[in-house]
Amino acid sequence: MQATLRNAYLDVLGIDRWVPRDALEPGADTPAIEPARRTAPATARAPAVEPAARAPLIAPTPLPPGIDWDPLRERVAGCTLCELCKTRTQTVFGVGNTQAEWLVIGEAPGAEEDRQGEPFVGRAGQLLNAMLLAIGLPRETVFIANILKCRPPGNRDPKPEEVSRCLPYLSAQIALLKPKVILAVGRIAAQNLLATDAPLARLRGKLHTFGVANTPLVITYHPAYLLRTPGDKRKAWEDLKFARATYRRIVGGGA
Ligand code: URA
Repeated sequence: MQATLRNAYLDVLGIDRWVPRDALEPGADTPAIEPARRTAPATARAPAVEPAARAPLIAPTPLPPGIDWDPLRERVAGCTLCELCKTRTQTVFGVGNTQAEWLVIGEAPGAEEDRQGEPFVGRAGQLLNAMLLAIGLPRETVFIANILKCRPPGNRDPKPEEVSRCLPYLSAQIALLKPKVILAVGRIAAQNLLATDAPLARLRGKLHTFGVANTPLVITYHPAYLLRTPGDKRKAWEDLKFARATYRRIVGGGA
């Protein structure tokens, strides 16, 4: 991975780049961190958790700046930027209120989502709905999207090049939505939004930020994992309460 390409990608995501101290000018009184090129001031920034530890293999695909919902939907629907277009039934753009203050981000469509064209409609979706409702958020009040817009065959993990091709769509959705809080469910969503390989256990329970707007980002378990491991639902509930408290702190009221 060339440094220029990685830096361009990290800048798109608004992620700080870490520079080894010995790469700095001798005697330079500079912190070993190179801020991402932001347009928004770095207020309300949570402590960085992990330096960006990995990056995709290819450059993100540029979208017209300020692209609106309808042209974005069309771009996604006709996307052929990776091999998943050959096996999908349809793209899964995302669903919900385009004025929503909450954005939920999962991994990728599964079989049922690929069939219906809507994220989180299977069993995991039912649990996600219940999790959201538990913090006062009926499904239709939030926006739900995935890291990938197409189903990976056999529900395998997304490949890095698929993620890097697809992430600009999600970034554009975030730029349009301007959510107050992002809730990322599962390791794949968390690691790709934070460009880290850190395990989920190290990413939960901390306030992260995403993108140039430093949108607060909370990490929790994927509902499909919770269906397999119900003993961790208690920890997921802690995460959800943390997300709700974060939202309340931002808006200064109830969720
Ligand atoms: N799992 C996900 O991460 N996303 C979906 O849309 C469905 C299942």
